[in-house]
This record gives sequence, C-alpha cells and structure tokens, in this order.
Amino acid sequence: MLYDAIIVGGSFAGLSAALQLARARRQVLVIDAGLPRNRFASESHGVLGHDGKPGSQVLAEARQQLQAYPTVQIFNGRVSRVDSGEAGFVVEAEDGMRWFTARRLLLATGVADVLPEIPGLQERWGKTVVHCPYCHGYEIGGGAIGVLGTGPMSVHQAVLFADWGEVTLFTQGVVAVSAEEQALLAARKVRVEPSPIAELQGTAPALDGVLLRDGRRVAIKALLVGTQVRMASPLAAALGCAFDDSPFGPIVRIDAWGLTSAPGVYAGGDMARVPHSITFACAGGVAAGIGLHASLVMEDAHGMAPA
Ligand SMILES: Cc1cc2nc3c(=O)[nH]c(=O)nc-3n(C[C@H](O)[C@H](O)[C@H](O)COP(=O)(O)OP(=O)(O)OC[C@H]3O[C@@H](n4cnc5c(N)ncnc54)[C@H](O)[C@@H]3O)c2cc1C
Repeated sequence: MLYDAIIVGGSFAGLSAALQLARARRQVLVIDAGLPRNRFASESHGVLGHDGKPGSQVLAEARQQLQAYPTVQIFNGRVSRVDSGEAGFVVEAEDGMRWFTARRLLLATGVADVLPEIPGLQERWGKTVVHCPYCHGYEIGGGAIGVLGTGPMSVHQAVLFADWGEVTLFTQGVVAVSAEEQALLAARKVRVEPSPIAELQGTAPALDGVLLRDGRRVAIKALLVGTQVRMASPLAAALGCAFDDSPFGPIVRIDAWGLTSAPGVYAGGDMARVPHSITFACAGGVAAGIGLHASLVMEDAHGMAPA
C-alpha cells in the first residue's frame, strides 16, 4: 500500500501531525519506537488540560483518539532506513523485517539529551535533576537549588531559576561571567560557585547536596541542567536535510509549515525547533501535518512535483 504519509516518531509531535492528516481522511502510518524524551519524568507539567499527568498517559490517550480514525495505522518499531525515489519514500523498519512506502515523509524523531558525566547525575535525571524550570520548578517547592553551568545559556537560566528558589550557579569552568552578568546575578540573589561539582549526594533520586572538587559541600535539593542535545535518529542527516545551530545543539532547518530542505520531507517537534516543550512539539507537529497535507492537495490538483 502507498500511504499518503509515513510519520516516523509517534510522540507529541508525530501524533499531532497524524491527527491533522487523519482528519483530512489521508492514509497515514505512524511508526514509533516508544522512547519519548521525557520518559525519565513521572509527570509532565505546563501542558494545558493535562498538567501533572504522566507523559505516557497523555500519549496513550492521544493514540487511542487517533486510532478511532479509519485511515490511520500505528506500527510499534524503529525505522532503520529511508530511501527516496520518484514515487516517494521506501521506509525500512525493524532492521529490514518490514517495508512501507509513502508519498511523503514526516520526521518527528525528537532529540536525545547529552548528560554531563558527573557521578550521581544520570540516576536523578527527570527527578531532582531537571532540564526546565517551567516543567518541574514548581514541584521543587522552593529552597536551595542549583544551576549547572553547561554553556552560554547558563547565566540566563540561573537568572530565571531564581523565581523557583535560592540559586547557586556552578560555573564548572565553562561559564565565564561578565561584570554585567555578575550584577544581574547579584540582583537576583544568585550565588556563583567556581569550584566544579565532583558528585551529587543523597539517596537517589533524592538530592541532598553536591560535593565540590575542593572538598566543600553545598546543600541543594534540585539541580537544573540545560543539556546539549543531539538528533535521536540519524534519518534526517541520511536524507540530506540541512541543519541549523542552536544554543542547545543542531536542529533540522524547516519552513513555517515544517518542510525541510529535502523534497517531500517534513519535520516537527524538538528536532526542528528550540526551545523545547510538549506544547511547542505539538504545535510543530500540527504545522508539519498541515503543510504536508497542503502539498498532497496541490500535487493532486495540479500534478505538481513534491514541494
Ligand atoms: C526529563 C524530561 C522531562 C520533561 N518534562 C516536560 C514537561 O513536564 N512538560 C513539557 O512541556 N515538556 C517536558 N519535556 C520536554 C518534552 O519531553 C519534549 O519537548 C517532547 O517530548 C518533544 O516531543 P517530540 O514528539 O518532538 O519528541 P519525543 O517526545 O522525544 O518523541 C520522539 C519519538 O520518536 C521515536 N523515534 C526516534 N527515532 C525513531 C526511529 N528511527 N523510528 C521510529 N521511532 C523513532 C522515539 O522513540 C519517540 O517515541 C521534558 C523533557 C525531559 C528530558
């Protein structure tokens, strides 16, 4: 069967795109490996109508609603390769066990966080080590909290995070604080700690404090880490999509309707924008789904080549 669209990645962005196409009665296949980026957190926040629900529950409800549309199929598995040709795309899943074909391709494969290698950090990721104050800051409930210096955005993060507690910015030898920034941090009552963190302490996932390399200990109950990210899948690069740099890592270049630089290939969600959140990912998926649908309509109407 030739699908109108195959969507690779069936999380917030991919399911949002699929919903638009399903409502246009298009034949859609969603292929999903089932590893959304927020799987380390027990709840998701800041999502209108779903605040505090497990992310997995939000996705399960979305899948259920989508499967009520007769033109939608969902395949649980991993896409290992995509080839593009004159008729569209040939998609290989499960290392060659399954093959599917489609007129258009929509990538919503997300990004993967590159966590700093500090003992005690990984096992607290998504719990007391958080990536975003808007997602998890409120639940920390105030008190002593930290920001791990990871790059040029860390000062900005510390300045913001001060609305959620008493912040120490750990510069880790990678953040140079200018005099102007120092004044801003002081105005926000942010303490700046130059000695790098050697390890996180407490009974994980709880966090009691951090041990510094100079032997001192700083008590904190949560640590904000603005991670660098990489593509969760190599498909966009393999298809020749152009990338742009962002403060967090590379993102796929798209237009306002999710079209990448590769003909017929659309993208949405974390992989194609910053900053990142479930709501932004859903919005990106909706835009790409609508853009893709419009390109099918134009091709059907005018016999135009894929945009
Ligand atoms: C710890 C943590 C907690 C978070 N909490 C919140 C929160 O509370 N609120 C909020 O708004 N945001 C939160 N976020 C951000 C949120 O998780 C992301 O913005 C959102 O998941 C992005 O959605 P997406 O659909 O673009 O990608 P993802 O959700 O990452 O989904 C990508 C999907 O593509 C699949 N995939 C990848 N490669 C392939 C392949 N080759 N074949 C098939 N499938 C593939 C993956 O398995 C996955 O299911 C959190 C992030 C983290 C790291």
